[in-house]
Amino acid sequence: MSDQLFDLICIGGGSGGLACAQRAAEYGARTAVIEFQRLGGTCVNVGCVPKKVMWNASGVALSLHDANDYGFDVKVGESDWAQLKRKRDAYVLRLNGIYERNLAAKGVAYVRGAARFVDAHTVEVNGQRLSARHLVIATGGKASLPDIPGAHYGISSDGFFDLETRPRRVAVVGSGYIACELAASFRELGSDVDQFIRKDRLLSNFDAMLSKSLMREVRALGMNVHERVIVAAVREDAGKKTLVAEDGREFAGFDCVLWAIGRAANVAGLDLHRSGVALDDLGYVVTDAFQNTNVAGVYAIGDVTGRAALTPVAIAAGRRLSDRLFGGKPDRRLDYGMIPTVIFTHPPIGTVGASEAEARAAHGDAVKVYVADFTPMYHAMTSRKTHTDMKLVCVGPEQRIVGCHILGSGADEMLQGFAVAIRMGATKADFDDTVAIHPTSAEELVTMR
Ligand SMILES: Cc1cc2nc3c(=O)[nH]c(=O)nc-3n(C[C@H](O)[C@H](O)[C@H](O)COP(=O)(O)OP(=O)(O)OC[C@H]3O[C@@H](n4cnc5c(N)ncnc54)[C@H](O)[C@@H]3O)c2cc1C
Repeated sequence: MSDQLFDLICIGGGSGGLACAQRAAEYGARTAVIEFQRLGGTCVNVGCVPKKVMWNASGVALSLHDANDYGFDVKVGESDWAQLKRKRDAYVLRLNGIYERNLAAKGVAYVRGAARFVDAHTVEVNGQRLSARHLVIATGGKASLPDIPGAHYGISSDGFFDLETRPRRVAVVGSGYIACELAASFRELGSDVDQFIRKDRLLSNFDAMLSKSLMREVRALGMNVHERVIVAAVREDAGKKTLVAEDGREFAGFDCVLWAIGRAANVAGLDLHRSGVALDDLGYVVTDAFQNTNVAGVYAIGDVTGRAALTPVAIAAGRRLSDRLFGGKPDRRLDYGMIPTVIFTHPPIGTVGASEAEARAAHGDAVKVYVADFTPMYHAMTSRKTHTDMKLVCVGPEQRIVGCHILGSGADEMLQGFAVAIRMGATKADFDDTVAIHPTSAEELVTMR
C-alpha cells in the first residue's frame, strides 16, 4: 500500500477532469486521472454525444417526411431503434478508447477505480493511496429521481440510453432542456409522448419567447404537454404505468416513464468530510472564481460545482486551472458570463446572454428588444412547417447586445459566431453594419428593425 505522489490528481475522468489533467501534463506536471466508470464521463457516455446521435436520427426522420414535398418518391418505414443503439454504443466505445490513448500519449496516469478522500491531499483507490500537491474534484453530476412511491418504475436520462427498443407510449416528466430534448427524440422517432411539467413553461430558465415558441413547436409535432402536473406516485399494472398527480388526476397507459427533473452533485462515496471541503445548501462543492474550494490545494470544476453544467464549461474551467497552477498564468480563470448554449430539439434553440426579463430587471427602461419571426424558406416546399423566432436584447444608448435568443432551423450552428461578437461587446449598429448572407435564416439577425 505504497503512497504515490503526483503534482495533480483529478478525481473523475469526464469532460473537466480529462481536460484539466491533460493540460497539466502538457506543462510537465506529474498527473493522474481516477475514474471508476468509462472514460469521457457523462458527455461521452450518457450525455451530449449519444444524445446528439439521437437528435441527428430524428432530424433524418423529419427530412424523410419532407422528401416527397421536394419531389422524391420515398416511403418512410419504421426506424430501427435497436440497430441505431448498437451503432451508437460502438461509436461511444471507440471514443472511450480514444480518450484512453490520449491519456497515455500525454503521459497521464490512468487509475481505474473509485476514489475517496483520506485527507485533503490523499485519496484511496482500490486500497492504494495516492497523494498530490493539487487535487481536483471533477466528479460531475447525476440525475435526480423523485422521492415518491413507484419512482423506480421510471428511468432517468441514463436509462434512456440503455433502451433496447423504442417504447410506444412515453411519459416524460420535467421541463428542462434534457426533458425537452429526449421527449422530442422519442416523438420524432415514432413514440407517442406526453410531457408533464410542474408549472406552465418549458425551459423556465430561458427567455420567455423560447419557452412559448418551443411549446408551439412540440405541440405541432403531436406531443401532449400537460401543464401544472405534480406527479405524486407511479403505479404499474401489467407493464403499463400510470402517473398519479398530487391533485388526484391520473394519466395511464405508458410503456415508459422518463424522469428528467434535474441533476445533483455527484459526491456520494467520496468521503468528502475527510478533506474538509465545504458544500453549499444544494450539495454542490463551493468554489471561488479560480475554482478553489475552501481547502488550500483542493479545487473543483464542472458539474459538481453547480455552475453552468455544460461540457465546454467543465473543459474550459479545467484547462484554465492547469494554466494557472502549472503554466505560469496566475490570473487565468474562466469567465462564466456569456456562455452560449444549444438545446437540441427540432427546431433547435441557440441562446446566449441575458433573457429579456433579466435585462429589464438589471437595466429597466434602458433595454430595447428586437424580434423577428418567420417561416424558413425550406418550408415553402413542405407541408410540414416549423417557425423561427429570434430576439436581440440590447442595453443603453449604444445598444450593446446582452442577449441573443433563437429558436429555428439552423440555430445550433448559427449561434457560435454571434456569441463571439456579443462577447466582444457588439452593438446593434455592428450587427446592422454587417452585410447579410442571403438567403439564410441567420441574415434576419443583422436586418432587424
Ligand atoms: C442527457 C444529457 C445531455 C447533455 N447534453 C449536453 C450538451 O448537448 N452539451 C453540453 O455542453 N453538455 C451537455 N450535458 C452536460 C454535460 O454532459 C456535463 O456538463 C459534463 O459532462 C460535465 O463534465 P464533468 O467533468 O463535470 O462531469 P462528468 O462528465 O459527469 O464526469 C465525472 C466523472 O467522474 C467520475 N466519478 C465520480 N465519482 C468518482 C469517484 N469517487 N472516483 C472516480 N471517479 C468518479 C464519474 O464516473 C464520471 O465519469 C448533457 C448532460 C446530460 C445528462
